Amino acid sequence: MRVLIVGPQGAGKGTQAALLADNLKIPHISTGDIFRANVTAGTELGVLAKKYMDSGELVPDEVTSAMVAARLAEADAGPGFLLDGFPRTVPQAEWLTDLLRSRGQQLDAVLLLDAPDDVLLERMLARGRADDTVEAISRRLALYHSETTPLLEHYADKLVAINGVGAVDEVQQRALTALDR
Ligand code: AMP
Repeated sequence: MRVLIVGPQGAGKGTQAALLADNLKIPHISTGDIFRANVTAGTELGVLAKKYMDSGELVPDEVTSAMVAARLAEADAGPGFLLDGFPRTVPQAEWLTDLLRSRGQQLDAVLLLDAPDDVLLERMLARGRADDTVEAISRRLALYHSETTPLLEHYADKLVAINGVGAVDEVQQRALTALDR
C-alpha cells in the first residue's frame, strides 16, 4: 500500500504514522526524521537543511526531492510505503506523481489527521523539540495553511480525513478503518 499522511504539526502525525507503518507492514518514511538524522550525523545534507529547519522554512525542493527519490529507490519501499512530511506543497506532489508514474505506481490513499488549533498548540509545546521555538512553530503553521492545505484539494479523490483527538490506540483504529484495514 502506498499512503501519504498529512496533518498540521502537533496533530500526532509522527506517532500515528509509526504505528500505522507497523500495522500495514510498510516502511515509515518521514522527511523530517531523515533531515534530523542528517543534522545529528553532521552530514553535508544536514548542515544545509539545518539553516531552513531552525527557522521553520522548507528545505529547497531539489534537495528534498533528491533525498526522497533515493529513499524510495531502496528495496523495502518497493511494495509500499507511508510517506510522512512529504509532499508538503502542490509542486512536490506533482513531482511525486511523476516519479511514481515512472515506476508504474500511484498512491492508494492520502490520510489527513486533523485536530483543533488549541490541541495542536498544547501538544507542540509539550514535545520540546529543538525547532519548537515560538517563531518556528508560527512559521510552520503559516506554511501549513498557505502551502500544504492546497494539497488536500489536489488529492481530493484519494483523501480520507480522521479526527486526531483521542487516545493513541483509538486514533490508530480510526486510521486503519479509514484505510479499510
Ligand atoms: P517535520 O518533522 O515534518 O515537521 O519537518 C521538520 C523540518 O524539516 C521542516 O520544518 C522543514 O524545514 C524540513 N522538511 C521536512 N519535510 C520537508 C519537505 N517535504 N519539504 C521541505 N522541507 C521539509
